Amino acid sequence: ATPMSVMVGVGRGAKDGVLVKNAEMLEIMERVDTIVVDKTGTLTQGRPEIIAVETVGKWNEDEVLSFAAALENHSEHPLAHAIVRRAGETNRSVSDFDSITGQGIRGNVDTHNVLVGNSTLIDEQTKGSTERSQIDAKAREYQKRNATVVYVAIDGELAGILAIADPIKESTPAALATLHDLGLRVVMLTGDAQGTAQSVAEELGIDEFHAGVSPDEKLNFIRELKNQGKVVAMAGDGINDAPALAEANVGIAMGTGTGVAIESAGITLVGGDLRGIAAATNLSRKTMRNIR
Ligand code: ADP
Ligand code: MG
Repeated sequence: ATPMSVMVGVGRGAKDGVLVKNAEMLEIMERVDTIVVDKTGTLTQGRPEIIAVETVGKWNEDEVLSFAAALENHSEHPLAHAIVRRAGETNRSVSDFDSITGQGIRGNVDTHNVLVGNSTLIDEQTKGSTERSQIDAKAREYQKRNATVVYVAIDGELAGILAIADPIKESTPAALATLHDLGLRVVMLTGDAQGTAQSVAEELGIDEFHAGVSPDEKLNFIRELKNQGKVVAMAGDGINDAPALAEANVGIAMGTGTGVAIESAGITLVGGDLRGIAAATNLSRKTMRNIR
């Protein structure tokens, strides 16, 4: 049976926007020593917006945008929404659409073959070209400013990049400071590029992070920590975080995130405020002390 004070603790958490699925989660939270966090939509607001378009070659800004947006119309990725919003309506026709999870999308737009995604996705077609080195240098500049860079290739040639900003949530710095004060180890995992990950991690004082991480790799990372005897809480918001949230000792979903993430987690933070992790830890420590 669940002790009365744990039930009280669960109720108290709810008042602070920390929704605990079952009493066991509150009990485990006391023993958590490692917090793994996703970047996009967890540390950041998850409302990405295009801040710049850079082109190379024969296609202009509007053309690059509209080719990319035509394809992104078929994608559910948060970056896709940013691109479609910025481009507005397009009447280009799409065929043979294909999504490469964790990398991007490809397909035919009108009579052209188009790739939209991270640098790896376009490597085969553009690696080693002069245009590529020029654009990579620009990409690094945007990444240093925390932006995500999406590459666009048209008919096998680099056409440009879209720089997409997703600001850090206002509550994130204080939330991380408190976690560090509580003596917890914080690790960031992201599917985004090394440059962007490093810049965000530096700004937030996170010294341990891994970039270019696939959903499977997130899951394996958690599994490995558990094998080392760590007690792990994982905080995330996306479909790509769901397997890792389910594997963690405590999965913590953003209430602002996707339903799949919330279903996979034991704790949900209403409004996605990460200060809820420290609140849950404190609540757990206090509650468990009361029982003993
Ligand atoms: P995350 O959401 O953690 O950034 P993902 O695994 O969803 O990671 O994606 C990793 C990277 O793949 C993105 O940063 C982006 O560069 C690229 N990518 C994935 N899907 C798309 C898409 N639909 N359009 C453009 N780029 C994409
Ligand atoms: Mg995310």
